[in-house]
Amino acid sequence: MLAWEVRQPGPIATDPLRAVVRRRPEPDVGELLLRVRACAVCRTDLHVAEGDLPVHRPGVTPGHEIVGEVVALGDGVEGFGEGERVGVAWLRHTCGHCVYCLRGAENLCTESRYTGWDADGGYAQYTVAPAAYVYRLPERYSDAEVAPLLCAGIIGFRALRRADLPPGGRLGVYGFGASAHLATQVALAQGARVHVLTRAAAARALALDLGAASAGGADEPPPEPLDAAILFAPVGDLVPVALAALDRGGTLAIAGIHLTDIPPLNYERHLFQERQVRSVTANTRADGRDFLAFAAAHPLRVTTTPYPLEAAGTALADLAADRVNGAAVLVP
Ligand SMILES: [Zn+2]
Ligand SMILES: [Zn+2]
Repeated sequence: MLAWEVRQPGPIATDPLRAVVRRRPEPDVGELLLRVRACAVCRTDLHVAEGDLPVHRPGVTPGHEIVGEVVALGDGVEGFGEGERVGVAWLRHTCGHCVYCLRGAENLCTESRYTGWDADGGYAQYTVAPAAYVYRLPERYSDAEVAPLLCAGIIGFRALRRADLPPGGRLGVYGFGASAHLATQVALAQGARVHVLTRAAAARALALDLGAASAGGADEPPPEPLDAAILFAPVGDLVPVALAALDRGGTLAIAGIHLTDIPPLNYERHLFQERQVRSVTANTRADGRDFLAFAAAHPLRVTTTPYPLEAAGTALADLAADRVNGAAVLVP
């Protein structure tokens, strides 16, 4: 089969990915073998390829927003049938018995493993995934539309939860890529007023089209104080900007797995009056199921840019250069 692997992590200009021909994987105990029907390209793939995240598996195949068709079942797998369409996301293993797992925070498990980082992912024609971490997918979406829901959607949903937006509240969204455009629609469906703050003119136009109350530059103040904000851009310089835009008691959730350094904060301007800043670390399977149920009940508009599997390197370079509107999706 055709697969992409991280040859040598480094800047995207050095072509860190290469295409290889590999033997099709076999499903282990508890795993499903899937034919990849679509795999969305996430900013985390870029962090894996560029070496912002440490190497967990040399030569790993990236990709953790996989729509696959069940081709074979490993020993012990029940409840799935050949030909069924399922989704594979970032989280693929937790221990089930640590303090975090036991209190319902499996996203914090210290033995967690991730698709496309610890194990080969979806930039390939076939992949294997543990059945216990695979999702059923809402039927209303095509393969390309549903793929970005599996990370961009789920993480945006968790970030929105972490932002503690009060009912009918005012939400600021900093950066407007795949995850932000989905979280914005969830917030709007829940009755929020959303202000989008991002540099790209096309992204601002999309935000207004989706129903945002305003769309301005990332370093401009929003037209009204915010009850909550989510930082999707991996830019630490925006942390004080977003904190300064919060109303008293507001919360800033930082959605990314990687952020450039945060400049010094001023207690009075950025934190006093009980403003809070929170990180978002992966997601639990419950977040994933809750979000996909939400997406089944509320039609989300998913903006995608398709690429053939052979063009995975180009898709990643386009993401790095902010040339992708919505989510890039590889379609083998
Ligand atoms: Zn655990
Ligand atoms: Zn992701």
